[in-house]
Amino acid sequence: MIENLYSILRKCSICKINKNLISFEKSKNKPYDRGYRCNKCNALRAAIYRIKNPEKVKAYQKSENHKKSIRKSSKTYYHKNKKKRAISRKKWAIKNKKIIALHSRMRGKRVKQATPKWVNKKELYKIYQNCLPGYHIDHIIPITHPLICGLHVPWNLQYLPAIENIKKSNKLEV
Ligand SMILES: [Zn+2]
Repeated sequence: MIENLYSILRKCSICKINKNLISFEKSKNKPYDRGYRCNKCNALRAAIYRIKNPEKVKAYQKSENHKKSIRKSSKTYYHKNKKKRAISRKKWAIKNKKIIALHSRMRGKRVKQATPKWVNKKELYKIYQNCLPGYHIDHIIPITHPLICGLHVPWNLQYLPAIENIKKSNKLEV
């Protein structure tokens, strides 16, 4: 069947050019499941329709049918690319360990409470991304101190060698 698509010619009803069946729109219940207009002419027709009927196109884009078809195609895309996505995610995770560390810290209750809503997250990411191996991100003013509460914001963060950070733990001289 697939061979037919490449070997059988059909004359396009619009441009009158003979083309392989593969160049024709898919259409059920027609010979070889292909219609009579070639893809090129079809695309042109659709483009002209969009220019001539902007209101109809807008209405269609808002319609349930359109939303349904988008949902359907994104669902198939999701399932088709599951493996690919898993691999690229793993690669990303290896490159971005610090960001993952930030995410897991942000999920922690204390950090969450110390992170104001207005904080520039991109800046935070940058700080975590640039942290050298062997260093920890340290809160200059601790966010878990019983007397004062530092914030999880860029200017309250510093890089500390991991050992120093463990020594400092939560001590702050006030
Ligand atoms: Zn054509």
